[in-house]
Formats: sequence, structure tokens, C-alpha cells
Amino acid sequence: MYTTQVQTAALPVSRWLAEYCDPRRFRDACRACPDYGNIWSCPPGVPDAAQAFAPFRTVHIIGVRVNYAPETLARARTPELTEQLRQASYGAVKKLLLSTLLELERAVPGSWTAAAGRCEQCARCARRDGLPCARPERMRYSLSAFGFDLVRIARELLGMELLWTQTGLPAYNVAIAAFLTP
Ligand code: SF4
Repeated sequence: MYTTQVQTAALPVSRWLAEYCDPRRFRDACRACPDYGNIWSCPPGVPDAAQAFAPFRTVHIIGVRVNYAPETLARARTPELTEQLRQASYGAVKKLLLSTLLELERAVPGSWTAAAGRCEQCARCARRDGLPCARPERMRYSLSAFGFDLVRIARELLGMELLWTQTGLPAYNVAIAAFLTP
């Protein structure tokens, strides 16, 4: 169904923020997203990046490229099928990536994770019902929610181009997370 390729990069948090974080540029795109105000890992309410990452010295960027097999691409004929296939592949990879990084947090004192995309720990986010986060111990803010330029991070730090398609699946998707260490 798919194969994966992993690329990583490490750089000082100060350089990461200065070169790749621009919340004002992405604010309108965030407001237009259906997750805005509906998922606790997404705006509004996400901490300011400069303050949130001030305690950390180094950021480790992890990119997992999910390459779809030709038969998977061919099966993505309708929006429903496409979403099912994406969840079974890219979605599964994102969950595994988060679980791995949460394990790593336990092994590295003082570390923290910014996740690849919105939180998907619950079938329905409690925020939609006006309730507090149901699993705060596993919820990590989405990396993009802080206003990072993921296109440039992927291209310049991971050597990967991000792809989009109007319909069906692109040849691959890339899950990008960040692991911060003191
Ligand atoms: S853990 Fe559940 S309630 Fe909390 S942000 Fe994630 S989906 Fe929403």
C-alpha cells in the first residue's frame, strides 16, 4: 500500500524561529481551516512560538515521506475512498510518529514535541462540545499551528518537496514533526 522514507535535521531553536516561523503570514490560512477553533491542538489558543520554544536549545525535525503504491493511487477515485486510504497510510504513520516521539519525551528529560498535523487522539475532539482536552498527556500542538513555513522546512532542511492534488492522492505525503531538547 505504501512505503516510507525518513529524513531528519537538527538546528538551533533560535535559527529555526528566525528563519522559518512567521505566524502573521499563515494566520488567514489557519482561520480558513476547518480545524480552526474545533481542535485543541490548533488555533486559536496555541501558545506563541517564541515563548513556547524559549526553554529549548535544539530542534530535531523529523520528516516521514509516505510513498503511495500505484494501486493505492488508482483506488483513490472518490473523496471518501481517498480519505479512507489516507487515514490507513498517512494517518497511521502520523500516529506512529507521535507515539514514538512521546516515548522519546519519556527518555529525554525536558524534551517536547510539536506534532505532524492536528491532534487525532479522539474520534471527536472535545473542543467541538466546549469541553477541555480529553487526553492532554498525549495532545501535542500541531507544528503548522505555530506558523512555521513547512514548505521551506521540507525543501531546505529535509530535501523533500511537499505535494498537493485537487483530487485523489499525490504521489506522496510528508508528515513533519519537531522534537525539542534543552
Ligand atoms: S486529545 Fe482528544 S480532546 Fe484533546 S485535542 Fe486531541 S482530539 Fe481533541
